[in-house]
Amino acid sequence: MSIGILALQGAFIEHVMRLRELGVEAFEIRQLRDIEDGMDGLILPGGESTVISKLLRDLQLFDPLRESIENGLPVFGTCAGLLLLAKNVVNDGAPGFAVMDITAKRNAYGRQLGSFLAKESFAGVPNVPMTFIRAPFIESVGAGVEILAQTGGHIVAARQDNVLVTAFHPELGDDVTVHRYFLDNVVDS
Ligand code: GLN
Repeated sequence: MSIGILALQGAFIEHVMRLRELGVEAFEIRQLRDIEDGMDGLILPGGESTVISKLLRDLQLFDPLRESIENGLPVFGTCAGLLLLAKNVVNDGAPGFAVMDITAKRNAYGRQLGSFLAKESFAGVPNVPMTFIRAPFIESVGAGVEILAQTGGHIVAARQDNVLVTAFHPELGDDVTVHRYFLDNVVDS
């Protein structure tokens, strides 16, 4: 199994580390050549969704990745990655892949609450640590979307078929619950 991590900007190294801890091959995607051999799954990291959106287009990665996701490639988006996968984004969303039937609110916690930690259940696993950094949350989901985690009354993790998203950064820390969920339930399905 080989998982590609989009490595244009943001928190990608930590995803590589978490996957390698789980014994999974992970490689960084920086240019078109990197995706020529395909992959079993893709991770879109947190960072700045506007910057990542622009770089994806400048580097001609946008269309081939969108096509792969639309054809069923398992994909996991964290934070900015969630925004790139949402069909609708409130608050100046950058144009993304728009493949998941959710409405996300960008910078949803305002400027006061830049970052915070929570511990909530994720897909039935209790007490999963969640790091939020200028995070979005999911305002509403379509019929085919499964809600996996909530905090403070807001949806912060969800899945629709081959697409998994978290508003938080599960890669910042040593808990691998969410990465394991992605590998076992999304990539291996
Ligand atoms: N606020 C960022 C954005 O709008 C997301 C923050 C993050 O990925 N930690 O893209």
